[in-house]
Amino acid sequence: MRIALLGDIHANLEALEAVLADAGQQAIDQIICTGDIVGYNADPVACLEKIREMGCPTVKGNHDEEAAGNQSLERMNPIAMAALQWTREQLSDEQRQWLSRLRMVRQVHDFTVVHSSLDQPERWNYVTNRFDAMAHFTHQFTSVCFHGHTHTPRIYQKLDKVIELQCQHLVLEPQAKYLINIGSVGQPRDGDWRASYAIYDREKAEVAIRRVEYDVSKAQRKIIAADLPEALATRLEYGR
Ligand code: ZN
Repeated sequence: MRIALLGDIHANLEALEAVLADAGQQAIDQIICTGDIVGYNADPVACLEKIREMGCPTVKGNHDEEAAGNQSLERMNPIAMAALQWTREQLSDEQRQWLSRLRMVRQVHDFTVVHSSLDQPERWNYVTNRFDAMAHFTHQFTSVCFHGHTHTPRIYQKLDKVIELQCQHLVLEPQAKYLINIGSVGQPRDGDWRASYAIYDREKAEVAIRRVEYDVSKAQRKIIAADLPEALATRLEYGR
């Protein structure tokens, strides 16, 4: 069974469609979403409806939660805040309710999916070093967990200690645990502008991070036309 995992789509329809087209050529049996369907970019409705219509298991991201809620956004940075305010206005009450009902953590087959970290998922902790990963692993009871949130693909392996692996293609060792950040479809931040997602081949016990080119300038034009902060358009071409 081959599973595509994608997340941090952030309302970037051009990137989402490119990833789905790429996955369509990879003999995929199932698609799973690691959250943050909306926020930042200009197509929240189309991205939400596409994920919903595929019926794929999905976990909630912090932007999904903020877009669904009515709380003040003042503690966020001004650019994220402006985009979320705009996103709230685009979504119907029913779409916001759908977002609010997404689960924080899911176990699918033999692995776990969470947006941020299994260490207090509702606090949206970032995993950016091996100490964050160690806190996460305390709560991971499957061999593999997929997540996102930092928009940077990254793999941690736990055997007797936790180490970060530098690779795009991984063969899973049966006695190890893995925390695999699949990167971001709609707003990568690792300096590579291409959309990022992962394919997990369960029979072969292999995970590959894939990068997919998409029409960045079209996504940028939509951001400008929607009167969203220009910085959101600029960052897409740098992958920052
Ligand atoms: Zn995100």
